[in-house]
Amino acid sequence: MSDPDDEQLALRDAVRNLCRQFPDEYFRKVDAERAYPAAFVDALTRAGWLAALIPQEYGGSGLGLTEASVIMEEINRAGGNAGACHGQMYNMGTLLRHGSERQKREWLPRIASGELRLQSMAVTEPGAGTDTTRITTTAVRRGDRYVVNGQKVWISRVLHSDLMILLARTTPLAEVVKKADGLSVFLVDLRLAIGHGLTVRPIANMVNHETNELFFENLEIPADHLIGTEGQGLRHILDGLNAERALIAAECIGDGRWFIDRITRYARERVVFGRPIGQNQGVQFPIAEAHVEIEAADLMRFDACRRFDARQPCGAQANMAKYLAAKASWEAANVCLQYHGGYGFASEYDVERKFRETRLYQVAPISTNLILAHVAEHVLGLPRSF
Ligand SMILES: Cc1cc2nc3c(=O)[nH]c(=O)nc-3n(C[C@H](O)[C@H](O)[C@H](O)COP(=O)(O)OP(=O)(O)OC[C@H]3O[C@@H](n4cnc5c(N)ncnc54)[C@H](O)[C@@H]3O)c2cc1C
Repeated sequence: MSDPDDEQLALRDAVRNLCRQFPDEYFRKVDAERAYPAAFVDALTRAGWLAALIPQEYGGSGLGLTEASVIMEEINRAGGNAGACHGQMYNMGTLLRHGSERQKREWLPRIASGELRLQSMAVTEPGAGTDTTRITTTAVRRGDRYVVNGQKVWISRVLHSDLMILLARTTPLAEVVKKADGLSVFLVDLRLAIGHGLTVRPIANMVNHETNELFFENLEIPADHLIGTEGQGLRHILDGLNAERALIAAECIGDGRWFIDRITRYARERVVFGRPIGQNQGVQFPIAEAHVEIEAADLMRFDACRRFDARQPCGAQANMAKYLAAKASWEAANVCLQYHGGYGFASEYDVERKFRETRLYQVAPISTNLILAHVAEHVLGLPRSF
């Protein structure tokens, strides 16, 4: 059997080779134009990388979360932004774990081939925020259909997706015993829905991230698009979030390494007061510190992935990995910007773009405070705070 480290190196090399076809100028232009990196995402799809987590029997590559995380890391390390397409890798998890065999056979092979994009998951609502049990979008059963009404916000990649996972209330909050009950998950065919009960309004935002407000007005969904058990949707979605957390941790590690690569190179070359700025401890130490923190976060990321792949509980590790990696990449971003001096603000150095991109991960898909609340309650046994 070959050494897993060798396999990982081969995987890294393959993803790096693909990313080399999309240099800094490509991502800079896409960012400046607020465009979607379609050519890049198409190339990743054709190479099969976004189908990493789909089992081979459904047409995917059947890789583990460890390998999937390496793919995401390498994209960000190469200067790209996996946020444009990471949903295609993990949103199908709800379908894979809770869909019926018929649903999986119908959808997964076409998602694996890239024929269909399942890039979006609609959970967040303006009135509920992080308190997901308070969402008010409803799906009411009428014969062989569900009729959806309500509103979502910050729903990403909808305009570059064919399918979307939707969380909606099927039993009113007042009628359930536990507030997490009564929510259900549906697979929405966006090609049929947009303009026929679903209106999409893009949100201009700090990063070049396609994200939207969604308005549902009597949108009809076939009843057999319900995934899993009616009323258990929140639990079905939560099941998949550990994978999402670990993958985003890996993206942050990739960002962090990109920042460290760039600033160490710059600090060796930039001469001020007759010597490289990197010769000053005042410059060296913050860079070294950021590097140390990225490496530590990386250990937690691999621990989370290893546990996930071994089907062991990994909620604490996945959350802690995401927390540490998002914090470390942000520290690295700050250091990289700071020691580029004025040039850090120039778009052609790409630092300001990556700086904006990595900042997102302390807020989405889950904010730092909510991770700390999870650790306090579920790891340390402190009383629930909300
Ligand atoms: C670019 C972008 C893309 C996104 N994509 C998606 C997507 O595809 N699908 C989707 O469903 N959502 C998406 N989101 C939403 C994202 O998951 C939420 O923004 C995030 O979970 C925080 O929710 P909120 O914005 O409603 O903040 P709020 O819940 O309003 O919280 C605001 C702040 O208060 C803090 N806070 C709230 N309650 C507490 C408490 N009890 N204790 C301590 N602190 C607290 C939070 O940590 C946060 O910092 C996206 C967001 C962004 C910005």
